[in-house]
Amino acid sequence: MLKRACRLYWRAARLRCPNCGGRPVFLTWTHMSPNCPVCGLRFERGERGYWVGAYFFNLMTMETVFTVWFLVFLVATWPNPPWDTLQREITVLMLLVPIAFFPFSKTFFLAFDLLVRPATEEDFSAPQEASPLKRQEDKPPRAAGD
Ligand SMILES: [Zn+2]
Repeated sequence: MLKRACRLYWRAARLRCPNCGGRPVFLTWTHMSPNCPVCGLRFERGERGYWVGAYFFNLMTMETVFTVWFLVFLVATWPNPPWDTLQREITVLMLLVPIAFFPFSKTFFLAFDLLVRPATEEDFSAPQEASPLKRQEDKPPRAAGD
């Protein structure tokens, strides 16, 4: 279990598919591919609001960074902490950390989810993009006057 957790999180920390280590998982910094290009794992695993867990990971990271920065700053500058400097630094951090951690929050959440709810066959069923032939079949038959 611990070895599996380490493997999943190590892959997630490198922004790879936690399931197989494949990449690229992200097309841009904020846009995640719908499936793993190597193993085909569907990243949004079938539940509405799935990524709320990733937001939670991002929020927890931001709060941890805030707390650590605040305490280190106070200890380093005690007994006369420059409050204005602290306020500016915290504000900049709170703006940058969620953006910088955004893709990691998704891969870490996916690793966590795979740890507690291992992938099944359904997770690898890639959404089918309709081919041109399929689309023609889906259209209703034309009326004779068209
Ligand atoms: Zn994969």
